[in-house]
Amino acid sequence: MKYLTFVIVALFFFCSVHGSARNNNWEPVKIHGQLQVKGRFLCNGQGDTIFLRGVSLGWHNLWPRFYNKKAVKWLKDDWKCSVIRAAMGAYEGVEDGYLVNPEFALNCVETVVRASIKENVYVIIDWHAHDFYPELAKQFFASMARKYGKNPHIIYEIFNEPTHEHSWERIKKYAEEVIAEIRKYDPDNLIIVGTPSWDQHVDIVANNPIVGYENIMYSLHFYAASHKEELRNRVAKALEKDLPLFVTECAGMEHTGDGFLDIPEWEKWTDFLEKNRISWVNWSISNKNETCSMILPRGSYEGGWDTEVIKPAGQKSRELIRFYNTVDKVYENLR
Ligand code: MG
Repeated sequence: MKYLTFVIVALFFFCSVHGSARNNNWEPVKIHGQLQVKGRFLCNGQGDTIFLRGVSLGWHNLWPRFYNKKAVKWLKDDWKCSVIRAAMGAYEGVEDGYLVNPEFALNCVETVVRASIKENVYVIIDWHAHDFYPELAKQFFASMARKYGKNPHIIYEIFNEPTHEHSWERIKKYAEEVIAEIRKYDPDNLIIVGTPSWDQHVDIVANNPIVGYENIMYSLHFYAASHKEELRNRVAKALEKDLPLFVTECAGMEHTGDGFLDIPEWEKWTDFLEKNRISWVNWSISNKNETCSMILPRGSYEGGWDTEVIKPAGQKSRELIRFYNTVDKVYENLR
């Protein structure tokens, strides 16, 4: 009994000492290094299965002011994000999107990429489109891979959300072309491929995944007030076939990003992802008058957010990220 008490006390001290050290020095890329995919799991440089959890910035063309060094640092230090997503708007008819103003887009995205490298947090370079622009995408990702591919921090997301009009065959062909281009310059960093119907038909992809390349994952998106058990059942089918999934966008409200915030269903989803060891990123750091925009308009663009300027979806997101990233770390060190 005495021995047991000693073990519990020792464990408690180990956790708190380790916890405080980590809180002052949370540098996910230093801990995990070069990512790799083994079977359907995301693994670190040592080959251990890991999770990445964090947030996506809103479209660069709508909320460019959040694309700065201080916001990245705050999201890492205070929200305990291990990954941050830069969502580069790249489709027609979008003011200041990559298609009409590439210089501005690059400036926003590269500011976040460089800040993430400095802060040692993983960063997703997201081609935020709803249609195919293969030549532009190849050119863009080749340039990113050439410039940043040596850094373990970089994750490429080559097509955010294909729609119901895009067949998997067509998406796959596009993905193979873009992946081949990236691999000319970067042989190893993680590449995430979009899936049909706004990243929800992962079951179709599981029947015919891309072959011949390493470190490829597929994206799954959900908005918990709209997508529930039916989508989880579809995901379960893909998991049975060992499809490597990464949730690059998710949140608790309706699929429009607005409407009712369904916290119990969001928690159900998060439990499901945790149980299946799937990484997740919440949408989004922005300040529009809608449920998914996490920050109030009076909040700063550079982090430093007190609770009263973080909207309910943002508070829940921060709570989930901090909780799971911290618990996960403790588990890893006790295994
Ligand atoms: Mg590399």
